[in-house]
Amino acid sequence: MNNSYRCWAEIDLEAVRSNLAWIRHRAGTGVQIMTVVKADAYGHGLKQICSSLMQGGTDWFGVANLSEAAVVHGVGSGWPVLLLSSSLPEEINEVIRSGIRATVSSLAEAHAYSQASVLLRLISKIHIKVDTGMGRLGVAHEDAFRLIKAASRLPNIEVEGVFSHFSSVEDDPDWTTIQLRRFEEILARLKTAGFRIPIIHSANSGALIHEPDARFNLIRPGLLVYGVVPEGKRRVRSDIKHQIQPVLSWKCRVSLVKTLARGSRVSYGGTFVASRKMKVAILTAGYGDGYSRAGSDRSMVLIRGHRCRILGRITMDQLIVDVSGVSGVSPGEESVLIGCQGRRQITAADVAGWRGTIPWEVFTGITSRVPRIYKGGTAA
Ligand SMILES: *Cc1c(COP(=O)(O)O)cnc(C)c1O
Repeated sequence: MNNSYRCWAEIDLEAVRSNLAWIRHRAGTGVQIMTVVKADAYGHGLKQICSSLMQGGTDWFGVANLSEAAVVHGVGSGWPVLLLSSSLPEEINEVIRSGIRATVSSLAEAHAYSQASVLLRLISKIHIKVDTGMGRLGVAHEDAFRLIKAASRLPNIEVEGVFSHFSSVEDDPDWTTIQLRRFEEILARLKTAGFRIPIIHSANSGALIHEPDARFNLIRPGLLVYGVVPEGKRRVRSDIKHQIQPVLSWKCRVSLVKTLARGSRVSYGGTFVASRKMKVAILTAGYGDGYSRAGSDRSMVLIRGHRCRILGRITMDQLIVDVSGVSGVSPGEESVLIGCQGRRQITAADVAGWRGTIPWEVFTGITSRVPRIYKGGTAA
């Protein structure tokens, strides 16, 4: 790609639509899809991703805050939006006025929504979250039935959804089963008592892969939309990994190539010392772009289709790589931080592994200094 960027991300919107189609197929009939687009669509750019997902036929959006919901509504107004976080007290009126579905974990929150809705003469559609073992939001599973019953009776409240969230679905089938059973028990009690809650959901990307029974009638995939299969201790079938397409490539440039004499120290703190004469390239990316310092001294990048190791500490705007084994490296050429070059590939999961974190954090860590370049978009 010919451009004058130093560090940029290429976002393949065709891949987004293809992943959504795979998710739709995997979900099966009668299951709606709530694509999760919090944190600027996992760093991919909320507007463009929303637009692609709307074109691709998503049913719902999941967001983390009100400004994200406003962006979604700005792109298209026909899609319901669930605020996956608890709302702050001063946000409640805005949530109701915008028709955003609220996540409710307590009777106090349900009361606050009811009272505000009565004053505004509007109906609030809420989704009650059950803590089946995640230990974050949600009413304790033992108290869930009582809360749902009480909330359903409040004026101007419609309990549109009941949901839960898994804590360890990629790693721990036993704990996931416990969570799922607790959730199903509540659903059974609701059914027996004659409650009909329209929307039941629990599955994130990992659950869509590992737990077919967790789909109910809506799923909430995030990471899969962006082309990364969440991987933990549980094995993921290789055909799934082949069918999901990476969306984001992250690139930078070589700005300088030079030779280091044996014994030369490299970068801040001199954590790397050349044990022989070496050829290094200076690249135009650093932690100011979100290429975390935590991956210093071990992460790899691609140059001329070769995997090259980062030497010494990653700095704010630059990093240093060993290109001793690569001939012809010259200033201006492209280096790949995430993505393919020739037959080699570096995935977001690789980068996460070198840093001791997860792909979700790699994506959301890419800073606003990095322009997102879109391809594969179709005119709306
Ligand atoms: C972020 C989030 C998701 C999406 O999770 P992925 O693992 O990225 O698929 C689903 N549900 C809730 C409640 C979330 O917060």
